Amino acid sequence: MNNSQNFPFQNSLSKSDYLKAIQCKKSLWLVKNRSDLKPILDDKTKAKFEAGEEINNLAREYFSGGVKAAESFFDIAKAVDSTNALIAQNHSVIFEATAIIKEDNCHARIDILRKSQNPDSWDLIEVKGSTSIKESHLEDLSFQYHVFSKAGFKIDRCLLMLLDSEYKRDGELDLNKLFKIGDVTEVVLDKQSEIESNKAEFLKVLESKSEPKVKIGAHCFEKANNHPECDFKEHCWREIPKYSIFDVCTRKKTAEKIIDQIDSYRVEDLNIADFAKGIKEIDVRSYQQNKTHVDQEKLKQWLDKLKYPLFFLDYESFQSPIPLFNNSSPYQQIPFQFSLHVQEIEGGELKHFEFLHQERFDPRESFIKELIRLCEGEGNVISYYKSFEETRNKELAADFPNYASAIHNINERMVDLYKPFSDRLIYSPKQQGSASIKNVLPAFTNLNYQGMEIANGSEAMGIYLDFIKGKKVDEAKMKNDLLSYCKMDTYAMVELMRVLRNNVRNV
Ligand code: SF4
Repeated sequence: MNNSQNFPFQNSLSKSDYLKAIQCKKSLWLVKNRSDLKPILDDKTKAKFEAGEEINNLAREYFSGGVKAAESFFDIAKAVDSTNALIAQNHSVIFEATAIIKEDNCHARIDILRKSQNPDSWDLIEVKGSTSIKESHLEDLSFQYHVFSKAGFKIDRCLLMLLDSEYKRDGELDLNKLFKIGDVTEVVLDKQSEIESNKAEFLKVLESKSEPKVKIGAHCFEKANNHPECDFKEHCWREIPKYSIFDVCTRKKTAEKIIDQIDSYRVEDLNIADFAKGIKEIDVRSYQQNKTHVDQEKLKQWLDKLKYPLFFLDYESFQSPIPLFNNSSPYQQIPFQFSLHVQEIEGGELKHFEFLHQERFDPRESFIKELIRLCEGEGNVISYYKSFEETRNKELAADFPNYASAIHNINERMVDLYKPFSDRLIYSPKQQGSASIKNVLPAFTNLNYQGMEIANGSEAMGIYLDFIKGKKVDEAKMKNDLLSYCKMDTYAMVELMRVLRNNVRNV
């Protein structure tokens, strides 16, 4: 195996550099030369890292008897020498084993290196906190295979160790059921020629003194090739209007084409005649004319179907990769809070109810009981983007069958307040293409979520997850912030319903 002597660690190509460069070569150059432009780690990213570490620790428990090669994440030389020493000592499972290709200036660290059944051969095992294989996992493992095999390791199989979404916890965690291991050797071998040519190109970027010229485009976004949104979007997109052609086109590749044709990112420069009648045509016309669009006839039909009393309902939930409670699965959404505004008659007095589970155990049964008690009777249950609440209800009914019929009754009465906005029965140019309640509310009212301690669902989830996992949190503040945030969501719905009614008054 290659040792660490004379390896030029500065500017060497790592697995994460390789993955970055696959998304965009400029991003690789910026990460090496302009780390000052990288955004500060937010709480969501920190929580993701923490969850990843927790999953890795469990994977190490699964391969009990393994030893860890490297202590410091950044000391590659130490990790390489330690890996070689552990191999010489005949260890059969090595965590965070590290290999280098001296002549190519590349290094890679694999989560688990395990002796295979064939003599002198190894399996590469990469652990991912995901429940399905993504393209980026295959690129990741392909780069690892490339480095380890070129460094002198005989690799038998390449395996991905993922979480099994089918696993339902029942008592102590069962690691044999929590994890599923898939063999992706064939795909990895198929990708090797691509790795070779990409690597040569990316090493040139590392040597370059100037920022590569790369146009912004579909590759900058989240989910493009299964990569996350680029860290340097703020830098590269600083000249692009906040509402651009990329926001108008659902397919980012289509946006790229239009931008090339008209040589502009501005929605103002689009030709409205190029759009078939429909949602996008409404968005562009409304924006260009700075005029609110209302289809009064259809809006009235939608409103006329509503049956009072109306129950404006919103849930907050959290999800954890490792199921925390019995009868729950990896990443299952666990509802822990709801807010409910009830209005008996149109324009009538509002009554507010709320539920927040404040104990560190499974909140679901208490949640269900309170929900059923407060939503009992007749009248529509109004939710914004109802598929979220509806799906949670279906899961609750499946996991707690004693309450199933009452929960299904709530779903049967559910109406989606998102629909009139997403279907463009009403649309304000201030929405800038989005029907999210966070954009719709300030577009039609004087209300917004700015200045709230908790400003979105993922912040609410993060805070509550810390609490439920037993971390030290300011419980009084958490309670106050969560209740205010969730209450705002249902009050926003009440206000938006008033906006809809006002827009059909004289029809
Ligand atoms: S924002 Fe786009 S163009 Fe800029 S580095 Fe990232 S992916 Fe490349």
